[in-house]
Amino acid sequence: MLIVMKAHATEEDVRRVCERIESLGFRAHSMPGAQRTAIGITGNETELDPGTFDEMVGVQEVIRVSKPYKLVSRDLKEEDTIVRFPNSDATVGGDEVAVMAGPCAVESREQALATAGHVARAGARFFRGGAYKPRTSPYTFQGLAEDGLKILAEIRDRFGLLIVTEAVDNESLDLVEKYADMIQIGARNMQNFSLLKRAGRARKPVLLKRGMSATLEEFLMAAEYIMSEGNYNVVLCERGVRTFADHTRNTLDLSLVPAVQRLSHLPIIVDPSHGTGKRNKVTPLSRAAVAVGADGLIIEVHPDPDRALSDGKQSLYPDQFDQLMIEIRQIANVLGRSVAEPVLNPGARRSTPVAANAGTVAAR
Ligand code: PEP
Ligand code: MN
Repeated sequence: MLIVMKAHATEEDVRRVCERIESLGFRAHSMPGAQRTAIGITGNETELDPGTFDEMVGVQEVIRVSKPYKLVSRDLKEEDTIVRFPNSDATVGGDEVAVMAGPCAVESREQALATAGHVARAGARFFRGGAYKPRTSPYTFQGLAEDGLKILAEIRDRFGLLIVTEAVDNESLDLVEKYADMIQIGARNMQNFSLLKRAGRARKPVLLKRGMSATLEEFLMAAEYIMSEGNYNVVLCERGVRTFADHTRNTLDLSLVPAVQRLSHLPIIVDPSHGTGKRNKVTPLSRAAVAVGADGLIIEVHPDPDRALSDGKQSLYPDQFDQLMIEIRQIANVLGRSVAEPVLNPGARRSTPVAANAGTVAAR
């Protein structure tokens, strides 16, 4: 159920409705919008009687939501969600197309810092790099764990890049929440419901990747899990699905972008690296992703892809990334959007150190 408040409803009116919802054993999710506030009601107990709220001061309308997802839905929030970060003017879901770039995995301090300096100068605002790697084989590189997270924190301090990195279980999520700016939930964990709930209790935005055979509804329901726990800063990511095609690693489903945008207010970005698995297809599909209206890109870049410990074949050479940025900047302009300009001295853009940053709530 969804309660739409009147345009002139006061904060006090909203608070009273939320209190009534909670007193009945449900959870209230208040979503302020440009025109009015809507309040989503979740909880898997009994049916609620809409009459309970009809007559309350400030209530415009009580709507039964027939879709299985509620909080991710545009029915609840008409305007696009813009995810913001403390101490940074980078956003995901605003006019600027967010560019996240870096190696598949943090392999060493030298490798990570060299890549970070390069992508920061080219205009990327976010640095990606796994410290916990979900690998098909237990005998391949599994990531540097907390040592990798410390390298990522150093990169934020040196280059002012926001850090996005994957958590694979509750234990790693505790650490990722402490060190990073954005918690990545990978394709293999899209339906790890206890991990989704833990991410929903985290105080950092979440990047949720589509499962490799997830339908649109399953994907949105996974985001609903996170939001139902109170974390409304969720960014969706299309990263390709399994099909019969064997000319690519996965089939990048760009049609998901407008499909999500119709149903949900959440931002959606595209990962053409895992989506294709082939370096020569990353730039063309990045161009297409921006053209289709994606809110961002997450791209693997490695200084020496032939020696990469994971995903070298789909990693761009740094100079290919520079060229990609030049091209997508122009495509974004056609759509009235932008891509951050190159930065001569990214160190000057430094944000606050991790200790001060950890545990802060991302402003909406
Ligand atoms: C990654 O981003 O490095 C990754 C493992 O992605 P996915 O979960 O989409 O396979
Ligand atoms: Mn990878």
